[in-house]
Amino acid sequence: MAAQAQAKERKLSAPSLSSETKAYWDAAGEGKLLVRKCTACGEAHHYPRTICPFCFSDKTTWITASGKGTIYSYSVMRRAPVPYVLAYVTLAEGPSMMTNIVDCDFDKIRIGQDVTVVFKPTDGGPPVPMFTPV
Ligand SMILES: [Zn+2]
Repeated sequence: MAAQAQAKERKLSAPSLSSETKAYWDAAGEGKLLVRKCTACGEAHHYPRTICPFCFSDKTTWITASGKGTIYSYSVMRRAPVPYVLAYVTLAEGPSMMTNIVDCDFDKIRIGQDVTVVFKPTDGGPPVPMFTPV
């Protein structure tokens, strides 16, 4: 851990839930990352939707992701009250998700870096998946 600001935990608001994403957040509460996968075309996607965004089939199902991914892009939000890193992480299962990179020295983050999921508590809601370098 480096700078003091990075050791400070950012306060996270609770995610909004819908019938489409309830199972996703329930799993997050158990420390599991779910991804929605289409059995018609075989593509996984994120954020979870009932209808496949690739082929518009409704034959989509939940799979438990490995929680492993790589950083596709990121930016350090240094002007926020508690600086944080906004990033796109490409999951091992294929889809990319917008997330935060946490628990690391922001200056050492690199595109293509391997990361793994960690769940961070929110204010009155389920924990949200974020990623930390392996
Ligand atoms: Zn599909």
